Amino acid sequence: MQENDTSQRFLFDNTDIRGEIVRLRKSYADTVTGKYYPEPVARLLGQFLAATVLLSTTIKFDGRLVLQARSKGQIALMMAECTSAGEVRGIARYDETPTSAKFSDLLRDGTLVITVDTKKGEPYQGIVELEGESLAECLQLYFYQSEQLASQFYFASDRDGVAAMMLQQLPAQLKKDADERSAHWSHFSTLARTLTDEELLGLPNADILNRLYHQEELRLFAPKSLVFKCSCSRERTARALSALGKQEIDELIAERGGIEISCEFCATEYNFGPGELALLFEQSGEGPPH
Ligand SMILES: [Zn+2]
Repeated sequence: MQENDTSQRFLFDNTDIRGEIVRLRKSYADTVTGKYYPEPVARLLGQFLAATVLLSTTIKFDGRLVLQARSKGQIALMMAECTSAGEVRGIARYDETPTSAKFSDLLRDGTLVITVDTKKGEPYQGIVELEGESLAECLQLYFYQSEQLASQFYFASDRDGVAAMMLQQLPAQLKKDADERSAHWSHFSTLARTLTDEELLGLPNADILNRLYHQEELRLFAPKSLVFKCSCSRERTARALSALGKQEIDELIAERGGIEISCEFCATEYNFGPGELALLFEQSGEGPPH
C-alpha cells in the first residue's frame, strides 16, 4: 500500500463535487497495538479513525474533531479524534468482549456525536442516530440531514490498516441548475460505487482515480501526513484526578500510598505521590483562594 498515513484531496473541474482518500497504517497500528480488540472491533475503530480524518477535511478549523458513538450493543463506546494537525487517536470500550462482526450488533441503539472543538469559541456538535448496517450509511445520513448535501463514504480494511474514500457534493457554485447538479452527482457516485475493497486498499490513489474517472478533468492535491499522537499529559491527568474530589483521593492515598493511572489511548503510565496530590487541591481551588 502506498501513500500510507495520508489524506489526499481531489476535485473535479466544472462540477461541485470533491473527494478525499485517506490511508491509515502505522497510525492505525499504533492505535490498536496492545489493546487486544477482537478483529471486527479493531476494524471498526479503523473506520472511525478514517472517518474523523474525512470529516475534518470538510471544514476549516483549528482544534480537534471527535467522533463518538455510544450504544446499547456490544461496544458501549467507540471514540476517535483527529486534530487539525493530522494527529489521530481512538478507543473502544466494552464490559464483555464483543463476539459479533455486524455493525448493528456492535453499535445497536446508539447515537453518533460529532464534536468540533476549536481553540477559540464554543464547540460545534452534530448528532445522528446509528441506523443502518454501516458507519458509511450513518455518515451519509448525517450529511444529508445537516447540510442537505449528498455524500458517499467507502471503507476497506485488512489486518494492517484502513483505506477510505469520500465523495461529496459541495454547495451549488459552478453548476446551479438543480437537474444538472443531480445528474452530475449520479454520474460520479455511480462510478465510485464500482470501486472494490481490493482496489481501494491496494492501488495508489492516482491509479484509483484514473480507473474510476479517466474521462474526467480531475485535480489531485498534495497528500497530507497523518500520525498517531495522544494529547494526554501529566497535567491533564492530574486535573482529571482532582475531579474525583479530595475525600476520594485521600482514601486512595491511605490505601495505596499513591495513585497510578494509565492513559486509555496510549497506555502511558502516570504516577502521583501523596505530596503531589495534596498540592493538586491547593491549586485546584478546594484549598484557600489565592
Ligand atoms: Zn495518552
